[in-house]
Amino acid sequence: MKLHSLTAHQILDLYKSKQASSEEVLKDVLSRIGAVDSRVRAYVRLSNQKSAGEGSAAIPIAIKDNMCTQGEEITCSSKILKGFHPPYDAGVIERIKQNGGRILGFANMDEFAFGSSTENSCYGPTYNPWDLTCVPGGSSGGSAASVAADEAVWALGSDTGGSIRQPASFCGVVGLKPTYGRVSRYGLIAFASSLDQIGPLTKDVTDCALLMNIIAGYDDRDSTSVNVPVPDYTKALINDVHGIKIGVPKEAFAEGLDSQVSQAVEAAIEQLKKLGAVVKEVSLPHTPYAVATYYIVATAEASSNLARFDGVRYGLRQLSANVRKTPVIDMYEETRAKGLGDEAKRRIMLGTYVLSSGYYDAYYLRGQKVRTLIKQDLDGAFKDCDVILTPTAPTTAFKVGEKASDPLSMYLSDVYTIPANLAGVPSISVPCGFSKEGLPIGLQLMGKAFDEEMLLRVCFSYEQNTPWHTKKPNL
Ligand code: GLN
Repeated sequence: MKLHSLTAHQILDLYKSKQASSEEVLKDVLSRIGAVDSRVRAYVRLSNQKSAGEGSAAIPIAIKDNMCTQGEEITCSSKILKGFHPPYDAGVIERIKQNGGRILGFANMDEFAFGSSTENSCYGPTYNPWDLTCVPGGSSGGSAASVAADEAVWALGSDTGGSIRQPASFCGVVGLKPTYGRVSRYGLIAFASSLDQIGPLTKDVTDCALLMNIIAGYDDRDSTSVNVPVPDYTKALINDVHGIKIGVPKEAFAEGLDSQVSQAVEAAIEQLKKLGAVVKEVSLPHTPYAVATYYIVATAEASSNLARFDGVRYGLRQLSANVRKTPVIDMYEETRAKGLGDEAKRRIMLGTYVLSSGYYDAYYLRGQKVRTLIKQDLDGAFKDCDVILTPTAPTTAFKVGEKASDPLSMYLSDVYTIPANLAGVPSISVPCGFSKEGLPIGLQLMGKAFDEEMLLRVCFSYEQNTPWHTKKPNL
């Protein structure tokens, strides 16, 4: 039996009936990594963890390279953090370890999570397991690819504007961005603190619920963590959507949407209707401004968060041979010039610009106001529907290099995912079909704050009645 191809819940059943041990599962997944990762390049580093994990949750997991893990090097796939060994575990890492989980390794990402293709990594790109000439999406592309390629049973990613859901869609796996405040950000290397959230990438919806049970919950070391009870998410796995109200925004099927993606999503809507859901049209009039708003708010926060990487405390330090300004200013400048990639520099410049005096009111303040309008659109829509449905991304996976020189077209990959981050609501991507080229297509649902259960219920019902999650890439 190929243990690496199983879901976590299937492996847990084998543990229970003593048909497999955590050592056997670990060995099989590691040999899968050995067999395919030279082509997929999902991992930037395997972990130093010795044990195979224990207990009921000894499931091998891939971790995005931006979550602090003690005894490991963590770099955000940036040269500037090479050699950084965090002295503590992130909140989610503690929870994984407490549950007996086995960290396999650290997954490739766009540098500091800036991107939608995993090409902006100092380690080079990850490749899409369904077509190795395509990108896996990003920025959690390594995490999504590791799960799709059976190089991890499940994975953690982070999502600031779509970085869990868009790669989940491109790689044909399930990806959930929880409600802002649901999962601790303690020890997550910050990109945009008001938007970042950690979440699961899994082979199916049941595994998504199981991993949420492990990672969700209050953490007083994250001041934005919310102290509300955590449900047992597996209780939400109900194969019944009768009477559930699904809103479909009329703005979603607009220009720029690939026709194969729109057909697959329309078919999914029909399927959900057949299963008893009530589908209605809603309007989110401010969502066309979401991408522009995001690139103001997110770059402003990123420029501030990245100021700490200057050669003093973390990772790379570049000293100059001859003094130009003062030794310390030279060190800051040379460390950042050498250590940061082009997209990181672009974000820092944009963010510094929108926060600078004279432009603050015109950009940052106005961006925050539009953010509120986008949130109000969603609040309004949720008054009479339980979930909102859109495509996850406007296209299937694109070719490696195709958008690398056109940042704007890359930014547009996130038109559908960004509103949930701006509003702080939970959102999930599940597979809903394949293009004629054989590339996965994803369906996105957004839910009310702290109602991940509704997302899981609708997706579980959809999954139980469709074959997409059972398909595997041919590697
Ligand atoms: N692709 C978006 C960006 O480049 C979102 C990234 C993310 O969610 N981390 O900012």
